[in-house]
Amino acid sequence: MLSVLYKPSVVSEERGSGQLQTPASSQPVVMEDDRTGSIYIQGKGTVMTYMFEERVNVCRFWDPYSGVWLLLPLQWEMNVEFVKARVQRVLSALPGLVDQKEITAALRQCNYDPEEVISVYLTMFGEILLQASQSGHQNYADLNSFRALLERDRVIEDLRQKLQTKEKAVDNLFQKNSYLGRDVRYLTDIVQHLNQKLAELEADQQEAREKIRSLLSRRAAAVLPAKTVSEPAVDPGQLHQVRQLTRELNVSNKQLRSTVHQALADMKNQLEPFKDTVGKLATVEQEAAREVENLRSLYRKEAVERKSLYNKLLELQGNIQVFCRCRKSSASSSLESTDDQEVVVIQKGSKKKFQFDKIYPPSSTQEDVFAGTLPVITSCVDGYNVCILAYGQTGSGKTYTMMGSKENPGVNIRSIRELLRICAEKEEVSYTLKISMLEIYNDSLNDLLTKSPGALLDLRVQGKSVSVPGLTQVQVQTEADIINVIEMGEKNRKIASTKMNIQSSRSHLVVALEVEGSDKVSGLTSRGTLTLCDLAGSERIFKTEAEGQRLVEAAAINKSLTALGQVFGALKCNALHIPFRNSKLTHLLQPCLSGDAKCCVFVNVSPDVTDVMETLSTLQFGSTIRQVSLGKATKNIVPTKNNKTGKST
Ligand code: ADP
Repeated sequence: MLSVLYKPSVVSEERGSGQLQTPASSQPVVMEDDRTGSIYIQGKGTVMTYMFEERVNVCRFWDPYSGVWLLLPLQWEMNVEFVKARVQRVLSALPGLVDQKEITAALRQCNYDPEEVISVYLTMFGEILLQASQSGHQNYADLNSFRALLERDRVIEDLRQKLQTKEKAVDNLFQKNSYLGRDVRYLTDIVQHLNQKLAELEADQQEAREKIRSLLSRRAAAVLPAKTVSEPAVDPGQLHQVRQLTRELNVSNKQLRSTVHQALADMKNQLEPFKDTVGKLATVEQEAAREVENLRSLYRKEAVERKSLYNKLLELQGNIQVFCRCRKSSASSSLESTDDQEVVVIQKGSKKKFQFDKIYPPSSTQEDVFAGTLPVITSCVDGYNVCILAYGQTGSGKTYTMMGSKENPGVNIRSIRELLRICAEKEEVSYTLKISMLEIYNDSLNDLLTKSPGALLDLRVQGKSVSVPGLTQVQVQTEADIINVIEMGEKNRKIASTKMNIQSSRSHLVVALEVEGSDKVSGLTSRGTLTLCDLAGSERIFKTEAEGQRLVEAAAINKSLTALGQVFGALKCNALHIPFRNSKLTHLLQPCLSGDAKCCVFVNVSPDVTDVMETLSTLQFGSTIRQVSLGKATKNIVPTKNNKTGKST
């Protein structure tokens, strides 16, 4: 227990008892060790403090006026040397944290054990805090975003559960309502049937009356002449029968009438409470539907906010991420990876370290690699331009990373498959996905999906947008569509390369997917592009080894990759002029590398000792890119009516 003593005085401590013994003078005892200290408190002057070790430590100060040890307010406690030292310990381990008051509170909770506080923070916000520690930047905004994100997730989960409960209640009400409706229909049928019977009986009664009337008139006609003539015209037996019949008819008529009236009254009574219930049910149903609608709109709002926080998080992480993937090899390796962000190249006994956003060692699977790009790919659906590049020497695994094999596809197929899945999930937005494929060989663009190959394409610049007029775009709806289109493009690439006697590794392959989403609710149209680029081999061909066509090829690759390096270099120093136009490759990629884009670069390396020079050069290139930070990414969203976009490739 930490006790702050007012004025130097003496206190005796009974360890483990939890009791403080103060002498008769009420002057506490001071223990002279590193647990003692003093702080200045406004209105009280300098008070002395002491940290008592008990089961749970509590920071108190001695209040001579009341003669008791009082709990030290957090604000004061932050100035106690003992606590300050521990706060500093936490801050030195986790520089991403900034709120000392919060750390003090955490220390209180953890018995003033800074190591425990550090471990609690790492458990809760490990990744972000570590990133902050490594970059040396205060990533407090990230932390807050992350916390807000967690909070949003909790709120969304709550809302989803509430929504489910309400939907269940509405279902029950609908079911109850349908049972009642059936009962009402059944009773209405009975009433109808009884009414029909009543009408029949009334008709019978009418007929009987008519009969009686005609019999009576016949009798009168027969009786009158009898007064004048002496013979009676009617048979008295017959008359008696008629009277009998009439009486019986009257009785049964009365009985029927009363039965029908009774049945109708019963029916009415039975229906009365149902009417009320049906009315109430309709109101409850309406209210429940309203509540469900409110919950739905709240859910939608939360989801939108969550998405924007997620994008904010990505923006804070930087719009260019560089990953390093090492190919599998059976030969002796020149590479070592110390952790998942650092790779060491060993060359003639000396070691050189390179840092990247993530290192994928030879054991990494295609799934692992794709998972790294997933957050960036997802933002394409929200209207961002996204680009994934693979850079490295021939044979280092660029094509394996981007295209992969049929059984184990790479980033290309997996990312388009994921985009299709996300688009299908969003019911309120209707998406159109169009794919194009081109090859850049000797600084010329070849359409790989055209039915009339051979025609060279050019780039067109309009304002800030760059497009390729005449480039074939194929609309895709299913995974089978994508595979067909990509297979067709690869086949055309092979035919063209055989015809021109070139190897695929000597050209850049660009697969671009345009995702246009039209939001039925907000009326907005978003257009994002996903550009997937398998670059030509970066190895330097020595001039003595190359001549003729090979020399031209080597020069073109060298020019375009150098231009790519220059673009990243200019971005790195925030140059006013970025030399995008120095090559067709960089010019085409301009929208993916300018301020409103997100980019992932894979630097693929071979671990073979014989490739060490190329490996060093590739890692150096990746390192340069990693220091580039693009401006804040912006979405390409316009109202549907205008239907214009900021970018096209
Ligand atoms: P690049 O496109 O850089 O020229 P490739 O992707 O064609 O290189 O890779 C060369 C060879 O190495 C291919 O046979 C490929 O299947 C294999 N390979 C590359 N990376 C890996 C890996 N991570 N795991 C298994 N095989 C790989």
